[in-house]
Amino acid sequence: MKKYVIAFVLILVSIQIQAQDFIVIPKHINIEGREKKKVIQQLDSLLHQIIIQKLDTNLISKNKRDFTISVIDKLMRYEQKKDSVAKLILDKQLINIYPIDSQQYSISVAYLYKKDEQIILPYIFTLIADCTKENITFSVPLNYLTRYWQKTKIGNITYFHQGKLDIEQAIIFDKKNTQIATLMGLKAEKMDFYMCDSYKEIMQLIGFDYSYSANGIATGGYGVIANTIFMNHEDFSHDVFHYYSGLVNKREDRNWIAEEGVAYTLGNAYYTDEEGKMVTQKRLIKELENYLIQNQDSTLWQLFKEDYPIFDSIANDLSVRSVISSIIVDEVLLKKGKIGVLELVNSGGGKKKFDNYMKTIDELIGINENNFNERIKKLMKDYK
Ligand SMILES: [Zn+2]
Repeated sequence: MKKYVIAFVLILVSIQIQAQDFIVIPKHINIEGREKKKVIQQLDSLLHQIIIQKLDTNLISKNKRDFTISVIDKLMRYEQKKDSVAKLILDKQLINIYPIDSQQYSISVAYLYKKDEQIILPYIFTLIADCTKENITFSVPLNYLTRYWQKTKIGNITYFHQGKLDIEQAIIFDKKNTQIATLMGLKAEKMDFYMCDSYKEIMQLIGFDYSYSANGIATGGYGVIANTIFMNHEDFSHDVFHYYSGLVNKREDRNWIAEEGVAYTLGNAYYTDEEGKMVTQKRLIKELENYLIQNQDSTLWQLFKEDYPIFDSIANDLSVRSVISSIIVDEVLLKKGKIGVLELVNSGGGKKKFDNYMKTIDELIGINENNFNERIKKLMKDYK
């Protein structure tokens, strides 16, 4: 009798697995209950749409819809990147599903594949399913995971935070958001800002409990995407500049030496130091000055050209080229105004970005390779 029961259960389980075309459901996952089964069916449809790159946005919950779509877009790109052999494998496995509310479920899916006899885990992805009588829709777990967070509105920015908010910094950011938008000829946009301690926390809030590509990354923010920002500091003005610039300037025109210069001066250096303080342009110019005193063989031209990592004691990824570019941008703004800055930002990217940048600053303010050291040194004195 026992044998028959086991055989029967096995048949049932295999039916359950076969019933879902795009996801593996291991036997130990409890999928009992009518509503749960419906959720899994709908999840299967969503995964199919992700595979075929055709998302029906009606499957996405209304709240933060654009943001959820942007995250799902990452999964779509992953499907696209897979080689033809990997595309044939059922690489998604349901690893958890449980109710979090009378009409909500948390669902986690692990993406797995085998390469050279090694099991690789690209993602563990969590979604929230919202169930109504008519429909089941999905969203990233952001709202759910931050449901007990405090909310503080400063101008156009709504901060979501667990610890104390630095109001002074928040006011600075709100002002910069307006200033930068105005410079680009745009209206300042409203933003939702989630204060996060680490990059790992950001990834979890947006649904990636694990991401192969984010493995080992601890610092940095995320955004602006669908008017949403994540960062460990209230001032996200560096990337806000890139965001507005991307709205008005053509991709091929954007010169990233100039962009970084503007982002460093109108915004900040993006990274925080060991004490969690935002690194400012002023501080980096002071550091640069000290560096030149201690390294008499170095020249500003050489540092600008080679972009040596001279600020690593403050934070990684700070660029001396961007600091020097920010000094040049300030001079362009002073002498040629907003039009001059926009000309420099749009001086052309790609392989010739360095030459394009040099040519444009020579035309705008007469700085070139021959007078570079002397002119920049003189400008640096104004920051004391
Ligand atoms: Zn930047």
